[in-house]
Amino acid sequence: CGIIGLCLHGKNTLRLGEAIYRGLLRLEYRGYDSAGIAVISDNGLIILKGKGKLSELEDKYSFTSLEGITGIGHTRWATHGAPNDVNAHPHTDCNNMFAIVHNGVIENYMELKKILASKGHVFKSETDTEIVAHLIEEYYKETGSVYQAFKKAISSLRGTYAILLITPLEPHKIFYARKDSPLVIGVGNGYNAVASDIPALLEHTRRVIVVRDGWIGYITPSEIYIEELDTGRILEPSRYIRVVE
Ligand code: GLU
Repeated sequence: CGIIGLCLHGKNTLRLGEAIYRGLLRLEYRGYDSAGIAVISDNGLIILKGKGKLSELEDKYSFTSLEGITGIGHTRWATHGAPNDVNAHPHTDCNNMFAIVHNGVIENYMELKKILASKGHVFKSETDTEIVAHLIEEYYKETGSVYQAFKKAISSLRGTYAILLITPLEPHKIFYARKDSPLVIGVGNGYNAVASDIPALLEHTRRVIVVRDGWIGYITPSEIYIEELDTGRILEPSRYIRVVE
């Protein structure tokens, strides 16, 4: 399983869908049963996903033709819910405002799902992951801030995760969080990227920040924001950049 996210400046010549698809191919060795991509395009959020090999899904959906400036991709190794089209990531909330990809296992998802269901949330999939999108939706109503909602949602989780979030509410950002599942930020020139491991980033950059457990934040084409979830301490990204050979 693996994840990748890319955010580009408007003038960047990289084709978003193609770049995400190529990143996912480089994560294939990690194993998967389904895959999917979400992008923020001029027409809002677009999601293409399904069960099967990347090349079969590309034939069916043409991932590589997707255009946009911000996007995330996922290869799934099912832990909760059968490998099928509906359970494939990305997952969204009730209003398709928040799109999530996740590697790992949310241990307290049943408990959170019950609370959310009692507040009227209707779930499309059987995954542990989908509840994260609904939690963000719920906290966004409360706080009016995507980042605060994301932070509150992540703070409620027990288990393991590398999670990415995109939303048309903040079209230039990819929000990320990590605990016990790998995640690396790629520091590009005119864009930034994030992925499960370094090979998926090497086509773009050799400057990376290995995300540590308990970090949360976001990337934009020109900014990297890092915070420690437990302490609220904001970290200086340049101190953590290393160059890979
Ligand atoms: N637990 C999630 C699921 O079953 C994520 C699995 C993964 O790491 O790919 O959908």
